[in-house]
Amino acid sequence: MIPAAFDYVRATSLDDALKRLATAGGGAKAIAGGQSLLPLMKLRLARPETLVDIGRLAELKGVHRLPDGRVAVGALTTYDEMLRDPILRHYGLLADAIPNIGDVQVRNRGTIGGSIAHADPASDMPAILLALDAEVVARSSRAERVIPITSFFEGAFASVLHDDELITEVRLPGGRDDVGSAYRAIEQPASGYSIAGVAAVVGAHDGTGWRYCAVGVTGVGDHPYRAAAVEKAVIGGESLAQAAAHATDGVTVASDIHADREYRTHVASVQVLRALEAAIARLG
Ligand SMILES: Cc1cc2nc3c(=O)[nH]c(=O)nc-3n(C[C@H](O)[C@H](O)[C@H](O)COP(=O)(O)OP(=O)(O)OC[C@H]3O[C@@H](n4cnc5c(N)ncnc54)[C@H](O)[C@@H]3O)c2cc1C
Repeated sequence: MIPAAFDYVRATSLDDALKRLATAGGGAKAIAGGQSLLPLMKLRLARPETLVDIGRLAELKGVHRLPDGRVAVGALTTYDEMLRDPILRHYGLLADAIPNIGDVQVRNRGTIGGSIAHADPASDMPAILLALDAEVVARSSRAERVIPITSFFEGAFASVLHDDELITEVRLPGGRDDVGSAYRAIEQPASGYSIAGVAAVVGAHDGTGWRYCAVGVTGVGDHPYRAAAVEKAVIGGESLAQAAAHATDGVTVASDIHADREYRTHVASVQVLRALEAAIARLG
């Protein structure tokens, strides 16, 4: 399909992009790698009047360590750049997930900012960022705000981001020696999207049990979520298998032609168990 007609402008700076979004009053959309927005436009599920191309804004690219030890990932950093970055190489769950996201083109063009702004209920990166307790930095021409990733997603393709805001960076905690992380997913074979994808960060064993556990789940509910009941069970001393059985507690599990509710509920628990075990195995 051919998209509906639209105007195209290439932003010359972040301020320029923000001004254009502010004056467009919701009629404009930013385009970064175009891996989600262009397919939507071709299907005419999105019809922006104007595309504001932010793809070449150097100020939104790259990975660096912040003075407090955390890691800042620029919104335009691509999957492939994340995979090859020397700082991010130590995040086991990223190394697990990224090689299986889309294909070479998607990984070369798709960006971390685009992935979370799009808020696809089956995207992999949101589950990873949930398990890492990341923060999203969003800026408009009026203000900048820092949004905990745990309050970012609101529903399918819906987030707290305003029409005139851009994600500028995503902040991750600095690596910890006493935790391990992993990502495990079962994918829909045609699209590669997760039927159930699970990111786990586990560690800080004090001799009696695990004192830290964070689990992000995607593909299962109407938006990616933290599996709080699993985390509580792991820290409370339940076996990993018992804890994994809580994978979908309190969640309305999606049901579609790829996986009905019963199957998806089951594989969510299986993937949680696998991700927990793999994260712990990384502790060596
Ligand atoms: C064939 C194919 C297979 C795929 N497989 C997978 C998969 O297995 N797993 C997976 O997780 N994903 C998959 N994807 C989706 C892909 O990961 C995302 O589409 C991509 O990462 C989005 O980033 P982008 O830069 O291309 O965003 P764009 O398509 O440019 O934009 C997407 C949305 O985000 C907004 N946006 C972009 N950047 C910003 C910003 N900085 N601030 C605010 N809003 C912004 C845009 O306005 C738009 O609404 C697949 C996509 C394709 C085409």
